[in-house]
Amino acid sequence: MTTDDPAARLAGVRAQIDAARKLAGRQDAVTLIAVSKTHPIEAITPLIAAGQRVFGENRVQEAQAKWPTLREAQPDLHLALIGQLQSNKAADAVALFDAIHAVDRPSLVAALAKAMDAADRRPDCFVQVNIGDEPQKGGCAVAELPMLLAEARHADLPVVGLMAVPPLDVEPAPYFALLAKLARDHGLAGLSMGMSSDFATAVTLGATHVRVGSALFGDRT
Ligand SMILES: *Cc1c(COP(=O)(O)O)cnc(C)c1O
Repeated sequence: MTTDDPAARLAGVRAQIDAARKLAGRQDAVTLIAVSKTHPIEAITPLIAAGQRVFGENRVQEAQAKWPTLREAQPDLHLALIGQLQSNKAADAVALFDAIHAVDRPSLVAALAKAMDAADRRPDCFVQVNIGDEPQKGGCAVAELPMLLAEARHADLPVVGLMAVPPLDVEPAPYFALLAKLARDHGLAGLSMGMSSDFATAVTLGATHVRVGSALFGDRT
């Protein structure tokens, strides 16, 4: 990390996103999701003060403990769930989050649809794809994507895009390109891809949402 100043880190990440956008000749906006998982409220408020409004958390319970307080002070915050969601937490997730980047199986589609109807609140949904077909990883298999998307649309989930985490320790670009192709094939505009180590590459390949944690907050302990 080059600086301890959160505002400077934020400016640095934003500059890299802009440079990648320009390199790719893109005119559209890229949403920076500041991934604040494991970091306390005191680490988050400096980024809010520096103008950041979109944040990501991967656990419902942790988010419930942190975000009501933060939103009271700053009502225009946008919160995305970026991690695996258990079906029994669907109602809590729908109540708290503005976007859910982890829709990955039929049982969760059903649970989210039910929770959205009950709450009359419809957070944007990204379907998570296991883009490297890794056995241990979350996300729906590439081969199962058409069926899951059909189910999600049938259930009236507001599906806006695809999300993926490429395999570790290999060049991510081919996986980003594949996710972009799958989104195009299915008429989806949203592409949630790219983390601290590879968000610039993801932006050149079309990411509309990048999920950046450690480059903004420092390492997680
Ligand atoms: C933690 C996490 C991130 C952010 O990771 P960094 O490498 O810290 O930027 C992004 N996406 C998901 C799904 C995560 O769990």
